[in-house]
Amino acid sequence: MTHALVWLRRDLRLDDQPALRAALEAGHVPLPLYIHAPDEEGAWAPGAASNAWLHHSLQALREELRSRGSELLLRRGDSERVLQEVIAQSGVQAVYWTRKYEPATQSRDARIKRRLREQGLDCESFNGALLFEPWELATKQGGPYKVFTPFWRAALAQWRAPAPWDAPARLPPPAALPGDDLEAFGLLPSPRWDPGFWAHWQPGEAGARSMLEAFTDGALRGYREQRDLPDRTGTSRLSPHLHFGEIAPWRVCAALADERNAANAADIDAFVRQLGWREFAYHLLHHFPRTPDHNLDARFDRFPWAKLSPADRKAWQRGRTGIPIVDAGMRELWATGYMHNRVRMIVASVLVKHLRAHWLEGARWFWDTLVDADLANNTLGWQWVAGSGADAAPYFRVFNPVAQARRFDPQARYITRWVPELAALPVPQRFAPWEHGIVVSGYPSQPLVDLAEGRKQALDAYAAMRTAD
Ligand code: FAD
Repeated sequence: MTHALVWLRRDLRLDDQPALRAALEAGHVPLPLYIHAPDEEGAWAPGAASNAWLHHSLQALREELRSRGSELLLRRGDSERVLQEVIAQSGVQAVYWTRKYEPATQSRDARIKRRLREQGLDCESFNGALLFEPWELATKQGGPYKVFTPFWRAALAQWRAPAPWDAPARLPPPAALPGDDLEAFGLLPSPRWDPGFWAHWQPGEAGARSMLEAFTDGALRGYREQRDLPDRTGTSRLSPHLHFGEIAPWRVCAALADERNAANAADIDAFVRQLGWREFAYHLLHHFPRTPDHNLDARFDRFPWAKLSPADRKAWQRGRTGIPIVDAGMRELWATGYMHNRVRMIVASVLVKHLRAHWLEGARWFWDTLVDADLANNTLGWQWVAGSGADAAPYFRVFNPVAQARRFDPQARYITRWVPELAALPVPQRFAPWEHGIVVSGYPSQPLVDLAEGRKQALDAYAAMRTAD
């Protein structure tokens, strides 16, 4: 029997796995391989929360492969060198993988593919992560979209999500090769600050599947209205599973299509539209590969960002700003590796507008602390809030965090969950205790920044940037 290497990267699943499928359909024994090479991600090597997730996801994938009679070969080191070693040791005739879209690894993969083909190997890459390849949709002029609505309209007009594919219950055993220990990858934090995370998450394909089922049985109904309310599970919480490729977006769409009826059609459309923002983020990252580190709108290169003091930075990061909704969000992030989307927008807005810190300050912190940290989505999110990105919120629209909290957390349930110091106050006073002259022991008596003054300075800075046009 011939062997094919199935090089797994951010597609840590077996169902809807095009590389595995290609190996089986060509009659090869698949040899699943994961190479740990974080240095090859350039300036955006995965952060601490991502690494902790990856550890558990690889463990789950290995168990799943073993239960089907196969094995996951783990190696670390330079990807190309490791591939060559494994090819020499196993005599594989083919190498298959699904694509990654981060600029640093994209060019590496192109180089590796060229060399493997020159060696006479059958080498193919597939789409395993997206509904549309980032280059597939183009404007009438043939360029990239910079506005979401026409992008999504074009996507819906060309909709043809692949049919789900279930991996076989048994896989042929691959040649036994020496591998590295998962523990040797050093992905788990030391000291272990993550155990609290796993009450909220089950990394791996089975965890992704149960999250999807919980969503279709629960929060899907009412998603359109409830997705903005952080005090409840009103969204799918599929983001880390999608990021690590533990579930294919087209399987998510197929599951929703199966559930579709007159009562939930609008909720399903609203949810699929959010998947559309993920597609848009990858489209932008592909066409504007400098945007993880640079403003898409070059006018913002002149923006007078303020230098954040170490004390202010720490107060924002650790949820001690004295602005309850911001502190709740930052504490949720610290405790669970996740933050509700509405609250992400609020905490980001306070950082880049009221405190006028560069959006990269926030993007870097999210990168290290989110279990769903994703270069495309995180870049889009931060540049959107900062006003420097594609289809971004205009800079002059400054969220008032107190008004946002009153609107989206009206019973202050989310605030109270994460900022229990405020639990003794009547609900209306929990949004901005200082406005009522209340000092709560152990909680900042004043917000880190005067909200009216911070807003004014942000608008003045924006006006100065515009005047220089
Ligand atoms: P659902 O509402 O159930 O949405 C389903 C899926 O659609 C998500 O899992 C996600 O893959 C995608 N999605 C939803 N909203 C967005 C969006 N605005 N942009 C792109 N994709 C979206 N998302 C990440 O996955 N990784 C990040 O690193 C990330 N950083 C962000 C930073 C900022 C400042 C902001 C404002 C948003 C960021 N987001 C990021 C987008 C969004 O907050 C999360 O995708 C969402 O909260 C995940 O929860 P969910 O899976 O329950 O979402």
